[in-house]
Amino acid sequence: MGARAMIVMVSWVITLVAVPAPGQIGDSSWLCLFDGQTLNGWKASENKGTFSVQDGALVAHGERSHLFYTGPVEDGRFKDFELKVDVMTEPGSNGGIYFHTEYQETDWPRKGFEVQVNNSFTRDPRKTGSLYGIQDVHVTAAEDRTWFTEHIIVRGNHVQVFVDGTKVVDWTASNRDMGVGTFALQGHDPGSTVRYTNIYVRPLPVLDFPIVDYHVHLKGGLTLDEAIAESQRRGVKFGIAENCGVGFPTTNDAALKPFLEKLQGQPAYAAMQAEGREWVGLFSPEIIAQFDYVFTDSMTFTDQRGQRTRLWMPNEVQVEDKQAFMEMLVGKIEKIFSEEPIDIYVNPTFLPACIAGEYDALWTEARMDKVIAAAVKNGIAIEINARYRLPSERFIRKAKAAGAKFAFGTNNGGKDLGQLAYSRMMARRCGLTKDDMFVPKPDGQKPIRTKGLPQR
Ligand SMILES: [Zn+2]
Repeated sequence: MGARAMIVMVSWVITLVAVPAPGQIGDSSWLCLFDGQTLNGWKASENKGTFSVQDGALVAHGERSHLFYTGPVEDGRFKDFELKVDVMTEPGSNGGIYFHTEYQETDWPRKGFEVQVNNSFTRDPRKTGSLYGIQDVHVTAAEDRTWFTEHIIVRGNHVQVFVDGTKVVDWTASNRDMGVGTFALQGHDPGSTVRYTNIYVRPLPVLDFPIVDYHVHLKGGLTLDEAIAESQRRGVKFGIAENCGVGFPTTNDAALKPFLEKLQGQPAYAAMQAEGREWVGLFSPEIIAQFDYVFTDSMTFTDQRGQRTRLWMPNEVQVEDKQAFMEMLVGKIEKIFSEEPIDIYVNPTFLPACIAGEYDALWTEARMDKVIAAAVKNGIAIEINARYRLPSERFIRKAKAAGAKFAFGTNNGGKDLGQLAYSRMMARRCGLTKDDMFVPKPDGQKPIRTKGLPQR
């Protein structure tokens, strides 16, 4: 057949096979674990060829293998959660969905629990939805060759399993530590074919504040329309940031106007990423105040040699004495916070590659305390950055205790918009609530109004 007919046919097949997940669209508390196209974030055991991606689904077919989630969401350590997976079996197939498990190179997973997938595999009487060997189901609520949804809810020692909305398991563990761990999908045997797709997790407890990604760039071909569509799909508001300063196209008011016009009336924040330390001399307070907020990092400054250094450029960084470098860096951060009218400190505590491996040792308690105190004193929120996974949990706990505010941010390099996995995980671990979170200030209270630009 011709190419056009082929394309029509292929898209028709995809439409039929890829079932939508209407319950998750626009709800920011659900995170997708499977991208529909690749095995990214997943790792197969023993017979790795058993798993493939076809028409938007993970297909398990072949010798025994288990596909473990190893991606960034909660770093694969789920304790309390809801999980939804759409599943389709061929007749005579066996599969399963594990939780609280961990990667194991061979054999059936020993850790955690299995929720069964079996509609017509007669050698095993445990049918779809069974909490395997603990609370078994003997009549399946699903059919072969028809998509069905397995919905697993784990809260404390209470497990519930729903098949297409019907509760089939309700079990409470007694005297048993339920544990924690990742998910795995089962490839049972060469006679089985099981498809898994629309894999969504909702870590519990759900965060009590709206999820906002305050640090999104229109880079690498990502358009505003695409960003807005993505924002709506995820139910996450975006702050779209223009890089403003020396070394970037935007170095004066006139160059900023098209960006502000483009964002006008859009369901996104307009953010100014203030670059380097020169930015305070390049733009008028009037134009800065037109942004919803301003953020900067401490990655560009004039160093101890009097040279402009960007910490992510190895050839521009000189660290002869690590302790002296850290003292200088902390001093730069304190100066930025006291002088520059910014709302958020982004890419926080970033260290150049040559010393990044010593982060925990170099970010001493005293240094963290200084940065946190300066942020609190100047009313500057601290970004929890998903790309660099910064700052550390230790830093966030200290900052929360000191009364600092936080903002989630991705700092994407292109279309690689993340799910804020690190930010969300840290918020949950450190117990952040809505009172800890940054919200853009009304015009009269913006730092550019209250603090103004430094006198030069
Ligand atoms: Zn940025």
